[in-house]
Amino acid sequence: MRAVDIIAKKRDGRALTRDEIDFFVQGFTRGAITDYQAAAWAMAVYLRGMNSTETTALTLSMAHSGTVLDLSSIAPRVLDKHSSGGVGDKTTLVVAPLVASLGLPIGKMSGRGLGFSGGTLDKLESIPGFRADLSTAEFLAQLKGRGIVVSGPTHDLAPADGKLYALRDVTATVSCLPLIASSIMSKKIAAGAQIIMLDVKVGRGAFMKTEKDATALAKLMVKIGKGIGRKVGAVISDMNQPLGNAVGNAVEVIEALETLKGRGPQDFVGHCLQIAAQLLLLAQVAPNESDARAKLGAALAEGRALQKFGEWIEGQGGTRRVIDDYSILPHASIIEEVLAPRDGFIAGINAEQVGLTVVDLGGGRAKKEDTVDRAVGVVFKHKVGERVARAEPLFTLHANDRAKFDAAKARLLAAYEFRQRAPAPLKLIHKVIR
Ligand code: URA
Repeated sequence: MRAVDIIAKKRDGRALTRDEIDFFVQGFTRGAITDYQAAAWAMAVYLRGMNSTETTALTLSMAHSGTVLDLSSIAPRVLDKHSSGGVGDKTTLVVAPLVASLGLPIGKMSGRGLGFSGGTLDKLESIPGFRADLSTAEFLAQLKGRGIVVSGPTHDLAPADGKLYALRDVTATVSCLPLIASSIMSKKIAAGAQIIMLDVKVGRGAFMKTEKDATALAKLMVKIGKGIGRKVGAVISDMNQPLGNAVGNAVEVIEALETLKGRGPQDFVGHCLQIAAQLLLLAQVAPNESDARAKLGAALAEGRALQKFGEWIEGQGGTRRVIDDYSILPHASIIEEVLAPRDGFIAGINAEQVGLTVVDLGGGRAKKEDTVDRAVGVVFKHKVGERVARAEPLFTLHANDRAKFDAAKARLLAAYEFRQRAPAPLKLIHKVIR
């Protein structure tokens, strides 16, 4: 078999066999197939697609490119949640400790920023000392000891996804249903959780722009997970405007901590409670949604979730001082408010433009070897549906370069849509798939 023939076959729109997919994935993982061949192949998949048999084969092959963990000796059921990628999506930073504080172990493998979407690992690494590159032994020890672990794909766990993810980010091959489904589910399978909640984003700041595509992605991932005996559910959640107020790595850590302290923005709190409640229902530790929400509300109000956050961060090398002292997070040299250019209701904030603006500020990657500036970002003061007066503060911009600040300010202002009349409210959750 030759890599070039497999690329050509997909380029010509033909379905790949399981052996061909395995050959390609394993060769790429070992370095026998080059980055440029993998990039060409990813573009062929992007343009030609894959059927569900191919996507399942790709998922399993990527999952088995490293160790597939068996967590049964640690806990009979370990939970996991995963987002398909959004803007301002710091849900894991809240949901993971919240659920773990109820005694449900959560072990997950996350990704880095991808295209316009932010990455959980990039956010967590804003915390001094935090390590996302755990070995399998460290992953297991943290899960056993603290009941909560979030790590990146390593040499051991789904290494094929780690390599391919980095290439897709810089070759315009991100928003592709089979590549997203296999990327997410390979990490879920390798990390070994039995109960998985998928948060599939839909809208302008999501890789899936329509509810139809988001539903297809969710159903495909649920099918792959169930096919190998995992309990999987999904929600389709809105990503037309950024989630919460903060977009950027360190500023999102602050917003997550504020949420754990009971002071989070309403939409973000609502979203976290929905995802966490669905996890509790999947795990069958709550008979219905209102009971699940009551349990979660108590864990937040009594500070147990915040306490769990501290244990988690400390276990992965970070300092829990961050909980009380945000000044130890990276902060930008230019932090300035930008004022509303006119009176009116905010009818839209284009989330994709916001995500791209933060990438341009340095908060994401343009090339896979780029380092991320964790200090930059934006914090919105108003969201869709709110009325603003001209010259009232609209958002705060955090930048480390004046020219980039000016460009970001112009791009963000252009991402707003103002109207004279109140717009219809945006939905938070479009659908729950069980
Ligand atoms: N999240 C992932 O883990 N992979 C993708 O491809 C997109 C979002």
